[in-house]
Amino acid sequence: MFSHPSSRCPTSPPSNERAFHGDIVTPTHPDYVSSLKRWSANSQRRTLVIAFVRDEDDVRTALLYAQAQGLRIAIRGGGHNPAGASSIENGLVIDLSRPLNDIKIAPEAKRGYVGGGALWSDVNGAVTESDVNGAVIKHGLVMTSGTVSHTGVGGLTLGGGFGYLTGQYGLVIDHLIQATVVIASSEKLIASVSQNTHIFWAIHGGRSNFGVVTEFVFQLHAQSTMVLAGVLVLAPPAMEDVMQIREAKFDEGMSEKETARVVVALGPGGQPCVMLLLFYNGTEEEGREHFKPFFELKQIVADMCRAMPYNEVNTLQDEWVPHGGNYYLKSASLPCPSARIAIQIRAAVYEAAKANPDIHSNYISEH
Ligand SMILES: Cc1cc2nc3c(=O)[nH]c(=O)nc-3n(C[C@H](O)[C@H](O)[C@H](O)COP(=O)(O)OP(=O)(O)OC[C@H]3O[C@@H](n4cnc5c(N)ncnc54)[C@H](O)[C@@H]3O)c2cc1C
Repeated sequence: MFSHPSSRCPTSPPSNERAFHGDIVTPTHPDYVSSLKRWSANSQRRTLVIAFVRDEDDVRTALLYAQAQGLRIAIRGGGHNPAGASSIENGLVIDLSRPLNDIKIAPEAKRGYVGGGALWSDVNGAVTESDVNGAVIKHGLVMTSGTVSHTGVGGLTLGGGFGYLTGQYGLVIDHLIQATVVIASSEKLIASVSQNTHIFWAIHGGRSNFGVVTEFVFQLHAQSTMVLAGVLVLAPPAMEDVMQIREAKFDEGMSEKETARVVVALGPGGQPCVMLLLFYNGTEEEGREHFKPFFELKQIVADMCRAMPYNEVNTLQDEWVPHGGNYYLKSASLPCPSARIAIQIRAAVYEAAKANPDIHSNYISEH
């Protein structure tokens, strides 16, 4: 049952409230500080109650409680929104990240049933030395996912979601067949193209504005385990050549199987470098042939591309974007890759880093 020591929250729940089966964390609880943590430190807020819900009924109870107490709510999936969308000052957080992260696969129907608080590492499978086969890929199946395995399925899907397989299969949200949603009235709905279609339409981009998604049902695709992926590290003068190859490839028509991400970064010592994160959904040989103009560049310092399992590809950038920093993300949309703009961005990153020596690693990517 809910109880809270704050003067805004009574210590006993409303009399019509049902039992709550998840965990309740309030400011005196030993887990309080860790429960406030988000990927970006600047998006953390001191809240009054964190409700780690176990199921739809818990979501319902938490919503009714917040409404009865006049508490504003936030819904937390993977906690990666850097603007603080999954945190709330002096309110109630419905946190989906503890028990609501189950993955079930129906291999014959090529469907994945994913809990509303799951991370992409839960879907694709963690990469360990002994077991590189993940939850979905071990069935020879895959779906478009985000490019960093510690991001949440919830926020990424409900915002659209792009990844390495977007060229081939589309956005993550394009794979959503059905969602279980608890709406503000606390009613539980099944939303799909044939049921509660208005809610199904609204959650395509609506994130938490129309309800709490406790389960996603996704369409999966057949996938061979191994792909070509990895990083090419290049000396900074390579930027012009890299971008010219990108522009030419764009004009010729890119393959739907490829992703080439150009990253301008500062290494640990503050030294600038250019990294090319390559992905080709085929064999290593096919990928190397496809990206030949990149592999022939003279300024390559290190070639770390190789055949690897898809679930490992999903982790390649994890360490570049660790939890706990102060982050600001900004996107801009260009009609095509532009060497001129990429070079201007690179110059701006280096200037900003020089002017702010406290910036340890700065990271801009184009893909
Ligand atoms: C390191 C990093 C890498 C990224 N890489 C990619 C990428 O490759 N592709 C891409 O498309 N995006 C990417 N993003 C952006 C990412 O999609 C968003 O930050 C997204 O909001 C993260 O979702 P989350 O569940 O982790 O975040 P949260 O902060 O938990 O949630 C974000 C928003 O979604 C809502 N929400 C979350 N789960 C649910 C749910 N089950 N039901 C209802 N509402 C919910 C929250 O209330 C909040 O409004 C990346 C972000 C980061 C920080």
